[in-house]
Amino acid sequence: MSFDTGKAGPNTDQPTLDPKDWDVFRASAHGLLDACLDQLQNAATHPWQPVPEHVRDSYKLSTDGHTFGDLAATLQSSVLPYATGNTHPRFFGWVHGTGVAEGLMSEMVAATMNSNCGGRDHGMVYLEREVIDWARRQMGFPDGASGILVAGTSQATVIALHAARLRKLGSAMRSEGNGAARLVAYAGASVHTSTQKALELMGIGKNGLRLLPEAGGSVDVAKLRACIAEDRNAGFKPFVIIGTAGSVDFGTYDDLETLADIAKEEALWLHVDGAFGAWTRLAEEPWRSLTDGIDRADSIACDFHKWMFVPYDCGLVLIRDEQDHRNAFAARPSYLAAMDQGLAGGDPWFCDYGVDLSRGNRALKVWSTIRTHGAKALGAAITANCRQAELMGQLVSRTDRMDLAKPIISNLCVFTADSTLNAKEQSALNSRIAQGLQLSGLAVFSTTVASFKGEKVTCLRAAITNHRTQTTDIHDAIEAVRALRDDLQV
Ligand SMILES: *Cc1c(COP(=O)(O)O)cnc(C)c1O
Repeated sequence: MSFDTGKAGPNTDQPTLDPKDWDVFRASAHGLLDACLDQLQNAATHPWQPVPEHVRDSYKLSTDGHTFGDLAATLQSSVLPYATGNTHPRFFGWVHGTGVAEGLMSEMVAATMNSNCGGRDHGMVYLEREVIDWARRQMGFPDGASGILVAGTSQATVIALHAARLRKLGSAMRSEGNGAARLVAYAGASVHTSTQKALELMGIGKNGLRLLPEAGGSVDVAKLRACIAEDRNAGFKPFVIIGTAGSVDFGTYDDLETLADIAKEEALWLHVDGAFGAWTRLAEEPWRSLTDGIDRADSIACDFHKWMFVPYDCGLVLIRDEQDHRNAFAARPSYLAAMDQGLAGGDPWFCDYGVDLSRGNRALKVWSTIRTHGAKALGAAITANCRQAELMGQLVSRTDRMDLAKPIISNLCVFTADSTLNAKEQSALNSRIAQGLQLSGLAVFSTTVASFKGEKVTCLRAAITNHRTQTTDIHDAIEAVRALRDDLQV
């Protein structure tokens, strides 16, 4: 048996979408790669900038095609410069990862391979298992725990909470849905909105989420216990406690050891949202201890695209008991039957552990990042960010009229630029400073509302998950805040 494996030449008799001239394509592609490398190497000179109208106009698609040379030139001139800006060393807004250079090369290789990671027997499936297993070990989960790479923590939360519900209701849930069960979940008030969304999607609704008051940044456990008992008496069906490791507004951490104790006593599933904060597991003390007890959770949701610096998008859900995970998602119609050999081998398949059947390759960029840097260097970058937040806090405290709104716990710094003003004036000033600095390209802070001296104040907020930030960037950013504040006040 022999096949002609020669490349498609001028004799092909069918239309193909491959380049007509690979040499021309290659030359443009090399140029584009250099442009990408230049932009990453000089990330400090590429802050966010607004997309001008004429550039947006140039994005319009028409019915006609264009050459690849034209595409490459357009990508370079009109697309590359208008990124979110989170590759910049003074980007501290929201919680954005900064992307490592290995990501660029991995995405190129991944696109070449065009793997479908829903299952079957091929390289990327093995790589994804390796990535999950590495994360499992970092989190202290037992051998044989299960996991899957997903778009982000929001999706990971849906998967984890669905598995938790299935354990509570049994496999009948897959045919009957929630039935008459009035399921309820418990979390501290600062839980991320993605948890609420997950419960809405699951038909439980946001009223099924008990938002508990917090004491010292962690769920008030007496109130949690009382609320569970009350709910049981009233005929509700508690099924999960959600602990937060790194809350998005102020960077607080629930006491996971205590939540694990309560979950055990109450026979409830403990899920941990550790979108960014779970990775303090790799950091030095005192930050590592913030996530003590995470190894006792039933599931963890976290992101590689935030504090593990892997380019977007990639999140992870880990589930302690593989059976819980599989029971909730396995479904294989006959056309997807597994075989013991050949391409349809490779069991277990990832499509039996999540929502997606066809799945892109998220593993390679994560694997490449971990393989290049190792846990130690990644942990050192996380530790450095915590120290930078600490330094930012000191600079804020030392600058006249500036004040921290919340204590700094790990990598978040929330402050007001002028605490001598009333709440309304402060809110307006802080918002204007955030916008002004973003537009000038000097630094990106976002904002959040904090109760400060008994009043709600819109504050400046830095979440430092940035491996490019240097000590001078912290000094420069706070100096830029001060300078703009003084300008706005004359
Ligand atoms: C970002 C974040 C999420 C949502 O994660 P995505 O990856 O954006 O879906 C959930 N929880 C916390 C604490 C977060 O910071």
